[in-house]
Order: sequence, then C-alpha cells, then structure tokens
Amino acid sequence: MIDFTHLFSQLFSMLWWALPLLILLTLFRSAWFKGLMGEAMVNISARLFLNKNDYHLIKNVTIPVFGGTTQIDHIIVSRYGVFVVETKNMKGWIFGGEHQKAWTQQIYKSRHKFQNPLHQNYKHTKTLELTLGLEPEKLFSVVVFVGASSFKTEMPENVTEGGGYIRYIRSKTKVLLSEQEVQQVIQQVADHRLHPSIKTHREHAAHVKEIVASKEAGQPLGAKPCPKCGSDMVLRTSKKGPNAGNEFWGCSAFPKCRGIVVFE
Ligand SMILES: [Zn+2]
Repeated sequence: MIDFTHLFSQLFSMLWWALPLLILLTLFRSAWFKGLMGEAMVNISARLFLNKNDYHLIKNVTIPVFGGTTQIDHIIVSRYGVFVVETKNMKGWIFGGEHQKAWTQQIYKSRHKFQNPLHQNYKHTKTLELTLGLEPEKLFSVVVFVGASSFKTEMPENVTEGGGYIRYIRSKTKVLLSEQEVQQVIQQVADHRLHPSIKTHREHAAHVKEIVASKEAGQPLGAKPCPKCGSDMVLRTSKKGPNAGNEFWGCSAFPKCRGIVVFE
C-alpha cells in the first residue's frame, strides 16, 4: 500500500512555493494593483525627472466642495505654475478630442465610452483655482494615461502617455509664482485638504465630519449644486470688506456666476 501522507508531504515539499506564487500572480493582475502601479509610475517619474527643489509633488488631495468633495490625484507646485494631474489607468486604443463630451476606449472589438478626462480635470483645476485664489493662467490641467493604452486620435499637448507628462510640465518655463507664493500654495493645499484629523475649529467642521462619516460608510455625499446655476460650490475666503478672512461657499463658475452660500 502507498503511503499517501508521505507522498503528499513529499509533493508539498516540492511545490510549496506554487501557492504564494499563484496568490502573487492573481494580485499583480488585479485592477487594484494596476491602479497602484499607475499611481506609482507618476510618483516615481516625478521624483526621478523633476527636481524636487523646484517641483513639489502633493498626492491624492481631497478638497471639500459644497455638500461633497472633489478628489485630485496629484498636484505639482512650482514657480512655473500649479499642475493639476489626473491619471487614467486604461488599456487598449483611445479615441478622443479636446471638446468631445465622451471619449472611446476600444479593446479588440469591444468599445466603451468614458467621460472626457479634460472635462473631469477642468472641474478639479477650477476648484483648486478658486480655493487657492490664484489667477486661472497659473494652473495647468494635465492628463496622464498609464497602462497599456495608445492614442488613435490627435491629442492636445496636455493629454499625455506614460512619462510624457514630465515633458509637458518641463515645457512650461515662464516664471509665474515667486518662491514665497509657491510655499503659500503648498500651505494652502495642506490647510484645505480633507483629512479625518482636520482641525475641528474650522467653520466647516460639521460638514467635514459629515463627509468623513459618509466616506467611512462607503457612501460619498453628492455635491450640492449652486442655487443659482447648478455648478459645484467651493470653499472660498473673503478677501475684502468687513467679512475679510471669513469662509463661504462660492460657485465654481465664478466670475460668470456669483452664487454664494454663507454658513448659518
Ligand atoms: Zn453658480
């Protein structure tokens, strides 16, 4: 009679490494891991190819908008401007144009539509512009496709593949911010970004709590729109007048729309 226990333990001693390998392979092929790699590619190439004394990388910033939040993948702050980077982790052929509402991804014969990432990132850029109180010409929207995709239509210069976004950022050589302003922007982002441990003395603390709680519950709050025009509202600070320094919700379509909501 064959000793199965012995056979099994012999087999196990030969093949013990197969199980962790299988688990690793499954992990590497998951969308989660690919997303992580895409983000890492952007971080690593920024570290390697952009001088860290000149370009300050801030990752994964969540900024409150009225009744909700907006999430920005990467912000790169430099004297040459503030770069708002949106990463798209996609494979296949990409068809799109600057002004098209929806773009198309094609993998073999299957096609699927997705929101024009420039429109998506326009919202992020506008929110940041108003939150920081910067002139619009000091911010640049950049889209980076990571993963195995290739463009099948002519793309604007700020829509890039892989490390191409570095080239775009480096192409901006006009000095737009002083070193002091650069530091100010970095500080402002740190002050405005949403963090579970955000200072509780802020006027919007209750709202922040609500957002954090809803995030933890896995149900993001829908942003409440501007009562005048329906755009998103962003947290702003009064610059002039008797209320200077006070925060309020202002319409992201400013100056076209001057809709505001004040705290009760
Ligand atoms: Zn409005």
